[in-house]
Order: sequence, then structure tokens, then C-alpha cells
Amino acid sequence: LRTTAEIQASDAAHHWHPFTDTAELAAKGTRVISSAQGCWLTTNDGDRLLDGMAGLWCVNVGYGREEIVEAVARQMRQLPYYNTFFQCTHPAATEFAEALSEVSPAHMSRVFFTNSGSESNDTVFRLARVYWDCLDKPSKKMFIGRRNAYHGSSVIGASLGGMGAMHAQSGLPVPGVHHIGQPYWFGEGGESDPAEFGRARARELEAAIDAIGEDNVCAFIAEPIQGAGGVIIPPETYWPEISRICREREILLIADEVICGFGRTGNWWGSDTYAIEPDLMSIAKGMTSGYIPMGGVLISDRVAEVVAHKAGEFYHGYTYSGHPAACAAGLANLRILREEKLVERVRDDLAGYLAKAWAGLADHPMVGEARTKGLLGALELASDSAARTRLAPLDGMGAGARCRDLCVENGLVMRAVGDTMIISPPLVISHGEIDELAARARKALDGLADAYAR
Ligand code: PLP
Repeated sequence: LRTTAEIQASDAAHHWHPFTDTAELAAKGTRVISSAQGCWLTTNDGDRLLDGMAGLWCVNVGYGREEIVEAVARQMRQLPYYNTFFQCTHPAATEFAEALSEVSPAHMSRVFFTNSGSESNDTVFRLARVYWDCLDKPSKKMFIGRRNAYHGSSVIGASLGGMGAMHAQSGLPVPGVHHIGQPYWFGEGGESDPAEFGRARARELEAAIDAIGEDNVCAFIAEPIQGAGGVIIPPETYWPEISRICREREILLIADEVICGFGRTGNWWGSDTYAIEPDLMSIAKGMTSGYIPMGGVLISDRVAEVVAHKAGEFYHGYTYSGHPAACAAGLANLRILREEKLVERVRDDLAGYLAKAWAGLADHPMVGEARTKGLLGALELASDSAARTRLAPLDGMGAGARCRDLCVENGLVMRAVGDTMIISPPLVISHGEIDELAARARKALDGLADAYAR
């Protein structure tokens, strides 16, 4: 077995990491995770870390689920690969599509399989445009997304997303995408009341449609709760207003459920949590709990019927759309979610438990706001919570990055988005582990306070 230092040296020489600052990587070395069980990661040196992020928001059923491993192995022995193009299918794809339709919103009975959230968003981009073409409204091409949203790293995913740093690096977004503000009250709400702010941010959609012209707008895309943007939990006034605008203005509503789907917010879909009725839903991550890469698009019957009847063939697909091993993983994952009633557990038990544990951190002097919804949570680091004043960087390091490192020192993986600390733990987390998560977060915050007091 290689030592951690040997792995790090080889990694630095040969492995270019996604979303990783190469200078920081060279200075600190990579964190080498060698195994995992439940909600716990084990490093190559044997240290245990509580995974507050479920990997990258995906390991909903926790690590080490033999049922998934066995299902994938069985499928690989029987049929490791076949495609779903050209009138072909295989039992795993059919069975998984049917199982998905059982947990999908009632008006969505079909899934288009992809391999990732990025591909799912590429697919909705194409499919939504095809829908309007089929209705003889080819001018309806423009997408409206939100600033600071993350919808993936493909050219279209990054364009629909509103991450300025991503756009700046490669001349994005592509033409045909417009961005409006996000309902981020703590960061951008100023003196306004949160409910009023939520409504105002939603009405930016209406203003954008007016400016672009309804005949030119194809769809609005958003996550029910913006995840990678910093767990932006919208004021309750936001989604009803967005839904009204999409309905009145005849544009498609696309929910990116890549993070919010599969129980994360206490319902099967974030759209259920906010009573959204999307025309298309992008899914991935919790679809297989990350055991095998997979994504998909859930398609409303309204869109499916128009496109199937008018266009006939949708010229789109991936070699691995409906990959047998991924379908087997997805089926086993779905079975666990249903049999262990994990979605209900989040709704009826864990959401409240986490909310209480998290609220206990709100009075920490380094915390400006503590918010949760389901099993998503955020802590806003601030020196003055009432004034929502941010902490200045210390020795060239932002408060969020410092807090993230302190979390790891205290055996906790929590992510930093600027100065917003976020969590998204596996849905199998226990009460004791939630207590542990909050206790370790508090220790990290204490460490942050010490650093600022020095
Ligand atoms: N959409 C959302 C909301 C995401 O959070 C992500 C990934 O984090 C994606 C899309 C892209 O998914 P993938 O990384 O599987 O391409």
C-alpha cells in the first residue's frame, strides 16, 4: 500500500482536480479518503471525518450499502452494457424508469436518462426548445436562470448557471441565456423584509420576460433551494410568485432537482416542498446516491406528448443513457429510500432535529444566521449578525476557508461558499451524529473566534 505522502506526490504530478486551486493544493496536499461507512469517512491515515456534505450532496443513503453493491455486481455479470438507442431497452432501464415514475410528481411519467446533472441540464435546454418548435413558436429560445446558480460544468450547464468566475474563464454564457437575481436575503436583502424581498426577486423574472418579450422566452430554470450557491433557502413568498409568472406568461418552468431531489428537503422533490409544478426536472446525485454516475430528466406529460407526437424523434442521447449498472444502482437506492422510509424520516424527524441543533449555533459570535430546510443547512459567518457584517480576511485567508479547515481539524467536512458554511449530510444520519455535527461545527467556530481575537 502506498503511504499518504506517496499518494499525494503522485496525485500532484498526474491528477488535475476539478474546482481546485492548484497553489493551495500544492501547499496543503490532497486529503486522501480511503474508505467510508454510514456518514463517516476514513482518511488514508485512519482519521475519521463526519461527512456533513454526503460527498458532493449525493450519498443520500450513506456509504457502505451492500444492497447497492450486490445489485450492481449482479447486473454487471448479467449484462454489463447495452444501449437504449434505436428502439432498444433492457430490463434494468425499464424497471428503473417505472420505479422513478412511482415517486415522481403525478404529472411526470417519463424519464430521459443521462450520466450527470450537467448532461441533464444540457438535455432540458434542448428539449425545452424542441417543445416550442413543435408548437410552432420557434422564437421562444431564451432561457432565464439566476445569478450565482450552479447547473453544471458543461457549456450549457455553466451557461444556465450564474457563476461569474466560471463565465469569465471561457467566454460564457452562450447566447440565449439571461440571469436574474437570487432570493438571498441574508447576503442581498439589505433593509428589506424577507417576504417582500422574496416577492421582489421573483418579480425580476416578470421584468426580464417583459424586457426580452414573452414570444422570445423559452423557460426559467432554478433549483428549489439553491445549493452550491450557498444553500439559499428562499422566503416562502418566492416560489408562489415565480409559479404564477411562469403560468401567466407561458414559459416553461424547469426545476433543477439535482441536489433537492430524492428526499433532501423532506419530500421526494424540492418542488413538492415549495408546491412547484415544473414542466421538466433535472435529476442526478441522489438518484444512485453517487454509487454509480447517473442523471436524468423527468418530463411532464404535457411536454412529452407534444414532443413525441410532433417531433417524433428527439435527436439526443448518450452512449450510457440508462446504463445497466447505473440503473441497478438506482433501483437498489430507490428501494432503500422507500423501504427505510428515509424521505418521511427527513420530513417527520430529522428536519426538525437538525433545525434545532443548528439554531443552537445562531448565537455564536461568529454566526450571523443559521438556517436549515430538510437536511440542508447554512451558517452565515459574520461579525455582527444584526447588521449582517462580514468578517475581513485574516492573513489573506477568508473566514469561510479558515472555518472549513478548522472543521476538518475537528473531524467534520463542511463546505464553504465564500463566508457561508453549508451542510447536506446523508439522510441516514442519526440524532447522535447530528449532535456531533453541531458540536464539531461549534468547535470550529470557537477556533475561528480565537483566530480573530489574536
Ligand atoms: N445542478 C445542480 C443543482 C448541481 O448542484 C450540480 C452539481 O453539483 C449539477 C447540476 C451538475 O451535476 P454534475 O456534477 O453531476 O454534472
